[in-house]
Amino acid sequence: MERLHLDVNGIVQGVGFRPYIAVIARRNKLTGFVYNDENGVTIEVQGPVASIQNFIQSMYDEKPPLARIDTVKEIKMEIDPEEREFLIISSQENGDMTTLIAPDTAPCAACLQEMADVTNRRYAYPFINCTHCGPRYTLIQKVPYDRKYTSMGVFPMCTPCEEEYTDEMNRRYHAEPTCCEDCGPHYSLVGEEERFETYGKERDRYIIAAIRERLRNGEIGAIKGIGGYHLVCDATNEEAVQRLRALKHRPHKPLALMAGSMELVERLCYVSEAEKEVLLTPARPIVLLRQKENNGIAPSVAFTNENMGIMMPYSPFHAMLLEADDLVVMTSANRHNEPLIYSEDEALAYLGAMSDFIVINNREIVAPLDDSLSRVVNDKNLLLRRSRGYVPMPIPMAESAELSILAAGSDLKNTFALVKKKDVFVGPHIGDLENEKTFSHFLKNLERMKSLFTVEPQALVCDLHPNYRSSIWARKEAQEKELPLIEVQHHHAHIAAVVAEHHLTGPVMGIALDGTGYGTDGTVWGGEILRVDGADCTRIAHLEYAPLPGGEAAVKEPWRQALWYLRTIYGQEIPAVFEKWMETLPKNWQMLDQIMANPAFTMPQTSSMGRLFDAVGSLLGLGNIHHFESEISMALESLASDVAGEVLPYSIRKGEECIEISFIPTIKAICNGIIEGRDSAFLAASFHETVCHAFMEVAIAEATREKIEHIALGGGVFQNKKILQGCISRESNQSVYYNHEVPPNDGGLSLGQAYIGKMILTKGGK
Ligand code: ZN
Ligand code: ZN
Ligand code: FE
Repeated sequence: MERLHLDVNGIVQGVGFRPYIAVIARRNKLTGFVYNDENGVTIEVQGPVASIQNFIQSMYDEKPPLARIDTVKEIKMEIDPEEREFLIISSQENGDMTTLIAPDTAPCAACLQEMADVTNRRYAYPFINCTHCGPRYTLIQKVPYDRKYTSMGVFPMCTPCEEEYTDEMNRRYHAEPTCCEDCGPHYSLVGEEERFETYGKERDRYIIAAIRERLRNGEIGAIKGIGGYHLVCDATNEEAVQRLRALKHRPHKPLALMAGSMELVERLCYVSEAEKEVLLTPARPIVLLRQKENNGIAPSVAFTNENMGIMMPYSPFHAMLLEADDLVVMTSANRHNEPLIYSEDEALAYLGAMSDFIVINNREIVAPLDDSLSRVVNDKNLLLRRSRGYVPMPIPMAESAELSILAAGSDLKNTFALVKKKDVFVGPHIGDLENEKTFSHFLKNLERMKSLFTVEPQALVCDLHPNYRSSIWARKEAQEKELPLIEVQHHHAHIAAVVAEHHLTGPVMGIALDGTGYGTDGTVWGGEILRVDGADCTRIAHLEYAPLPGGEAAVKEPWRQALWYLRTIYGQEIPAVFEKWMETLPKNWQMLDQIMANPAFTMPQTSSMGRLFDAVGSLLGLGNIHHFESEISMALESLASDVAGEVLPYSIRKGEECIEISFIPTIKAICNGIIEGRDSAFLAASFHETVCHAFMEVAIAEATREKIEHIALGGGVFQNKKILQGCISRESNQSVYYNHEVPPNDGGLSLGQAYIGKMILTKGGK
């Protein structure tokens, strides 16, 4: 006989944790109790030692799908000879709520089965959910997580729903969004309301049939989802896709798709087992997949991009809307460069202009979430955008922080992060903080996360950039609230994000390959080897500086830097082969050319790898001007994929302070290849291989010299599968790490900032 007290920490509330504990305790003939408290779940079990061991094993093996056990603390207790049964004790609202809120997840198999069963009372009901599935974060107004504090609070449960909700052995026990078509929300087609009256309980079915008909006819729908509205059209109808692009004012950037079945995805794209698994995780991110030829998808969905973003249905409504062979464009509905539209007011105000019909429902979205985006590399999921399905799950750090910290993130692909003890709550994808609207979206989301997890920041961290909106705000906030502020170099934070996620200890040699980040010398960094040891960072090596002719304009127009490379290599004698390329340049190119020739003209300097990719892409004829971010480097990756290249020449020079890695010899070799008429795919692949080779060579040598065991890869360029694979496949005595839980791009920056903040504050100052 033994009695054990267990404190279980993690995502253990609102996910059916207590009933399953009761089931396995009773199965093992144990007595005791289970209840929720502010730190998670407390359990006491009493019985034979072997039975308790079985119970603990089952607790891990059979946990509910949405539950996550982070830590279990065991304490031996006195036997209670009077105890006869195992009880679920109802919880009280009290104390400091650090309980974790589950993310929004796709319908579980049991719910889908009920929805398809004509005899079930939730047959074809598009809001079906249970303890193991359904929306969470998007409908919670405040904690504790209780129906009255969610947008389901306005729907009183009918008797049968109430019975399920209060039966501790039921799958819907305390599933706060429990509802049915008698008591729950419904869909409606804007402008056709009167007609629904006559359809009574079947109106959701009628609406779905009506939408299907309209999509078949090439119409564009604005449809309310879990985290916001989507624009939807038939993805095999070229005319419809073109119209959608025109209405959304998004002429170039690839559009995300939703497919009705895995069989369909397999017909359209190459899908590995690991990719299937990610497509079907409860989080249901968009997954980047390689297209098959002639797959019937309208050309305007992704143009020449060989990768396609596809997701599987993730709400009961999607599951009903799409039959197995259906493929639709499902792109978030937002106005140009503004956040996702999610409120009914905004939907009615703006979506009429972007669509032929609008589908709303009366379950309010409290907090919007964009679709997450993933890519599978070496059978592992790599998040490129972390939002729906993942937020607000915290990322655990190795050690607890003494102070609560707010990290403001980057101005591009912004996320913020809040540190509370050992948890880092990385907020949802906010987007680029380029206008007031996105910035107020940032502030609103921040306030929400602060109150949901009761975090009041005692210190702030921001990027070193003098002009980032997020940094300017953080500086002001710190001053007003008299809080310490820590400014962190951009690429230090990228590497720290890897260190934080993998709980690495000791120094790491970090390779940061990135677009843009403000450097400590005032230049624009982005091709760096950094020795990072917690809060300390030393620049070991960098990509040789090249100018940004015309400043910011050079980021949008890679031909500018490409032309500089040509002039640097050939002077006035540019080979005739490039005349054709020069003819594709904007009319005023000679003007820039003349200005560049003037030594008195100063240009901002950069060591950005992103810019080098763009310049090489431009020279290989992939475009001179970006229509959207990373367009040309993505095209370069597409061109190179599956092609074996060779390592081209590059040079490594020991500078005064740092090693400089120059790719001018590489570009020269590529130009020679162009002159010799070599295949551009081979040249693109060779460029990729050379970059990996050069950076890994230096990183490995420096790590070995300093007896450093870890190499960490961070920055937006590691979204490039060929670069990531090229670096991790390189043999070395060091272990190589990169981010999985947060994006390698600026979406993961706040995690790195949070970690550095914690390290500095724990040490008690820099
Ligand atoms: Zn379910
Ligand atoms: Zn009901
Ligand atoms: Fe970055």
